[in-house]
Amino acid sequence: MAKTETLHVFWHPDVLKHDMGMAAFEIPPYPFLAVAEKHTEGPDRVRNMLSILKDGPLAKQIKWHKGRQATRDELLTFHTPGFLADLERVTKSKGRGKWYTRTTLFTPKSYGPVKAAAGTAIAAMDHMLDGKGKLTYALVRPPGHHASPDTADGYCFLNNTALAAQRAIERGAKRVAILDWDVHHGNGTQEGFYHRNDVLTVSFHMDHGAWHPKFHPQTGKANEVGKGRGKGFNLNVPLPMGTSDSGYLKAMREIVVPAVNAYKPEVILVANGQDANQFDPNGRQLVTMAGFRALADEARKLAQKHTGGRLVAVQEGGYQVTYAALCMHATLEGFLNTGPLLKDEIAFYPDDLSHAAPAIAAIKRTRGKALGRAAR
Ligand SMILES: [Zn+2]
Repeated sequence: MAKTETLHVFWHPDVLKHDMGMAAFEIPPYPFLAVAEKHTEGPDRVRNMLSILKDGPLAKQIKWHKGRQATRDELLTFHTPGFLADLERVTKSKGRGKWYTRTTLFTPKSYGPVKAAAGTAIAAMDHMLDGKGKLTYALVRPPGHHASPDTADGYCFLNNTALAAQRAIERGAKRVAILDWDVHHGNGTQEGFYHRNDVLTVSFHMDHGAWHPKFHPQTGKANEVGKGRGKGFNLNVPLPMGTSDSGYLKAMREIVVPAVNAYKPEVILVANGQDANQFDPNGRQLVTMAGFRALADEARKLAQKHTGGRLVAVQEGGYQVTYAALCMHATLEGFLNTGPLLKDEIAFYPDDLSHAAPAIAAIKRTRGKALGRAAR
């Protein structure tokens, strides 16, 4: 992409209206603590992402588009009728709403906002598929990649990225690749496409394992490679805590890029989380602005090779309200190939490959074994 490439950003203000309120980090407040804080997944994080795009150095390259609410039929392309009925029941209820997990509250006012996030992701996909823009980005919240077809999990209710992928399939795409570099395992996306070969699901994540037998039974380990027709089309890249830029980049270049090249996707979707950054309250990785820019650079090269430079990004996590916005900006710089436009004045933890390198070698071995072939 030339330096003059336009970034088409899809935005709907209703996404700010889902609010889990005050919290003890991410669970309901303790009554005996004097200071409650805002829930980690609050609207402020995306407000900063919005303002940095409106007022920051990329502003001139951005064309803004209004998002929209997803329809029920669109949601049913990924989610089950029973789950939607549950969300609808909570919407009509009185009181605070339903805690799907201890960290994940769906309030009676949440359905409009989450449908706005889902519909805005689908609109960004449609815009790209219609040939109106090569590079589209849905700036949405709450995130979606933990939402499986039949349940909410980990702040996520509707799987925005999966719904956008499903849209591409329904419009005729034969192979869609999802690159998810949110710091957590994209378990809901994995679950939804685990038996299918028309969507390659790739998830980079810190090696946190399964966190709940019902909501997140998937382990995120490298031996979860897909089943049946889907065997080989789920790629997990669990990186040890403390992985920094060079570890992420090595995994991208040595594991993910070859897998995507072999798959030859017609559509590339990025589940664009920044919670692998050095200061994220929900992540224990050490990625900097330069690291996100470099990851996006690799994604851009994959798009140039396979999709004529077309790529759709959907916002996922990223919770430290300052650095997540800066890292998101750096990611978009990578997609646009602008080079660094913002200086990183915050990061200071050193880049160190020493413990990520053996883990990356182990991922290759484990995956090769699970697929019954020598690791590449
Ligand atoms: Zn995350």
